[in-house]
Amino acid sequence: MVTTQKPLIGCTTYRMEAEFTVFALRPAYVRAIQAAGGAPVLIPLGLSEEDLRVIFARVDGLLIPGGGDIEPAQYHGQNEHDLVHGVDRDRDWVEARLVRWAVAEGKPMLAICRGHQMFNVALGGSLWEDVYTQIPTAIAHDFVNTHPRQHLAHTVMAQSGSRLAAQMGTLTAQVNSLHHQGIRTLAAELTAVAHAPDGLIEAVEIPDHPYAIGVQWHPEDLAPIDPAMAALFQGLVVASKDEG
Ligand code: MN
Repeated sequence: MVTTQKPLIGCTTYRMEAEFTVFALRPAYVRAIQAAGGAPVLIPLGLSEEDLRVIFARVDGLLIPGGGDIEPAQYHGQNEHDLVHGVDRDRDWVEARLVRWAVAEGKPMLAICRGHQMFNVALGGSLWEDVYTQIPTAIAHDFVNTHPRQHLAHTVMAQSGSRLAAQMGTLTAQVNSLHHQGIRTLAAELTAVAHAPDGLIEAVEIPDHPYAIGVQWHPEDLAPIDPAMAALFQGLVVASKDEG
């Protein structure tokens, strides 16, 4: 039997199409993990807590990807807000558990966009239901329907000495921006380690964790053209190898 040092990276999925019948994940996430030397495995929704726990125990690291909005009730927000869309309570349930377990048990995790927001909400933080309408000074962050996913929308300034900055190898990065929500109050366990020019939190981490980083942008779309973005996946894979 051939053995390999490749770590398993569990990726949560989302449901699409009528009646939420199809589990899905954008292939850019899978490619970015593979390019970094990891073996991606997709985690479906609708599992029992016991089965989710079995999968969590087997994977060496986790990737929590982007997607629709988290149910505002999860963070005492406005469920009836007009601009909240794409809520899937089962996905919220699965991802909140995986995030809390990864934090508590030191399992490496990279959380992207909605995943970054879930990282905060699962640990007790809250979100702006809609950045544009709730923050008058906000710059444009939602380029979902107007630009290619690789469009460099704004700068982020990373905090010196952060794991994020060390991993990217830079304090300044040009990033894409495909979100209409953002972190409002930060969970106590998290440190904000990058901000947009308007002050919005664009990255968070847990400093004493093997690898727990959340980014509001989509590095999986930029990894093929920007080594700093590919490095975020390499950091996840290396930390997961140590774990496994
Ligand atoms: Mn942004």
